[in-house]
Amino acid sequence: MPIRPTIMKFGGTSVADAAALANVAAIVRVAEKMQPVVVVSALAGFTNALLDSVEKARAGELRHATRSLEEYFERHTKIAGELLGPEARTSFESPLAEARRQIRQLLKIIAAYPVTSPPLQDEIVAYGELLSSQLLAAILRERGLQAKFVDARECVKTDESFGAATPLPETMTRSREHLSPLIESGEIPVLGGFIGSTEKGVTTTLGRGGSDYSAAIVGAALNAREIQIWTDVSGVLTADPRVVPAAQTIPVLSYQEAAELAYFGAKVLHPKTIQPAIEQNIPVRVCNSHAPEDPGTMIVGESQAAPQTIKAIAHKSGITTVQITSARMLGAYGFLRALFAVFEQHQTAVDVVTTSEVSVSLSIDDVAELPRIISDLEKLGTVEIEKERTIVSVVGDGLRNTPGIAGRVFSAISDFNVSMISVGASSVNLTFMVDDEDAHEVITRLHRVCFEDQECVQNSSKNLSAEVLV
Ligand code: ASP
Ligand code: MG
Repeated sequence: MPIRPTIMKFGGTSVADAAALANVAAIVRVAEKMQPVVVVSALAGFTNALLDSVEKARAGELRHATRSLEEYFERHTKIAGELLGPEARTSFESPLAEARRQIRQLLKIIAAYPVTSPPLQDEIVAYGELLSSQLLAAILRERGLQAKFVDARECVKTDESFGAATPLPETMTRSREHLSPLIESGEIPVLGGFIGSTEKGVTTTLGRGGSDYSAAIVGAALNAREIQIWTDVSGVLTADPRVVPAAQTIPVLSYQEAAELAYFGAKVLHPKTIQPAIEQNIPVRVCNSHAPEDPGTMIVGESQAAPQTIKAIAHKSGITTVQITSARMLGAYGFLRALFAVFEQHQTAVDVVTTSEVSVSLSIDDVAELPRIISDLEKLGTVEIEKERTIVSVVGDGLRNTPGIAGRVFSAISDFNVSMISVGASSVNLTFMVDDEDAHEVITRLHRVCFEDQECVQNSSKNLSAEVLV
């Protein structure tokens, strides 16, 4: 039987300082028997600082650019000082000094030739992950674990879209070649997320937040038993905790439910980032590095996810709705096409759409082009705009076959003005609009109805079934 490793990805906040890194080492130690492969982000804030330094250099502020990075180099040194013995500390000093030298050199080039140079920028930004992975590997070794730094650029091969590169299929074989022998000999590979290289060996990055994607793709290559994404919350919550303090961790989500939630900016993985895991049916677990005993949230294929359950209430505020009314729509064809062409032409994404015989309502998030959109739409009919609206979405596979949910949801908020009701085509969401100023109360009440009322809580731990919701 081939070994099925566990991928453990730690985000920037999990490696912010010495205490956080010591904590990560303790978490990896507990998982030692699970054949871990560790993927790590840059230290918290470092990627932003590196990108800023590039901007500064481009603006001709070279000294400012290099100086702004000093506190981050010092942070690496300080962590090494606190967590490594003298020998390991000395050996980490040389890659750190080298990174510092190289970054300075590259910033100098950018300042001298201030054109946008995506390859140079990637070369600089990649040092964030290169350093964090070398540092973490050294810390794990210091604690008696057989950890080995692996340069992720050897494993993740990408196209040449610098700044947002796409991994090539050969990443699968490359990752196996580099990582499997280590895993088989009981070693723990430690690699930086987010970074890769082209066929010619030029450094690339996968786009902001790309370490999750690295974890998923390495997990897929190695047929991992599980991909763990360690962050600073206990998994995915039933609602935004800033709105609903009683929000709870959702134990199991399907990939599709996770995708619905991601759209609302819920603290969940972007569905694109876990695509490689989805394709191979590898479960993804979102865990809390500050509360490692919490089971977190498992994101799994539909068949394994508890069906018939409402999973979460997601929302997004500050939305604008556009309503177009025209008698010409009645019985006409081609009208909707003309209407959507306006949004396409102004490159504005439309989120929720509802229609009646003579009017169409839709919601947009980005209003940069709104004045021009309105003037084009006015050629088609009367246009009404409403600002400061909130999309509320009740998400869960349970919506598929549970009668009476809509009644239950809307009777809980019958004193509010609700519009644009739609049941998502995927039937894992029931979506509607309310005013921003009502959103807090609406979400609080729905959360109570779906997750907090005694009878619901009892049932939702099994299954939030039809009787409860009707
Ligand atoms: N360090 C990169 C970023 O901040 C990648 C990641 O953390 O996932 O975007
Ligand atoms: Mg991140």
